[in-house]
Amino acid sequence: MMSCQFCSIARGSIPAQVLYESDLAMSFLDYRPIAKGHALVISKKHFGGLYDIDDETLYEVLRIARIVSVRINEIYRPLGINLVQNNGCYAGQTVFHFHIHIIPRYDGEYNKMLITAAKRRVKIDESDLEPIASEIRSALKSK
Ligand code: AMP
Ligand code: ZN
Repeated sequence: MMSCQFCSIARGSIPAQVLYESDLAMSFLDYRPIAKGHALVISKKHFGGLYDIDDETLYEVLRIARIVSVRINEIYRPLGINLVQNNGCYAGQTVFHFHIHIIPRYDGEYNKMLITAAKRRVKIDESDLEPIASEIRSALKSK
């Protein structure tokens, strides 16, 4: 995986502001931050995203995401922190190596956007939810 930016960071062949690391995962600052302290947590091994990462590595990435989030919360006291994980370009993924964003929120802008988006959402009938739930449940059972 020669051209993967995050594999290069994991190998230490391109620089990053590393915050924390273990054998399986590491955290560093996003170089195009949305806010102060915007960090990423990546697997050290290459996985394209949520669909192919193994459980042990996934848990380790999440464990580190919590450790780093707790410290960021203590030192910068944001109003809130989002963990964001994108899969596929239509979901906003631009680096195809598994990662979780830690995004501190310091002002009301993101919340305003969420409230506006929430107002556009419509509660659907139980009878419309049931076939979807049933389809997903069957798919889950068949694995
Ligand atoms: P995503 O859009 O979820 O795939 O997020 C990729 C993130 O990686 C973006 O927020 C980029 O700013 C960040 N990023 C890409 N390359 C680097 C790098 N070399 N060092 C730090 N952050 C990076
Ligand atoms: Zn990679």
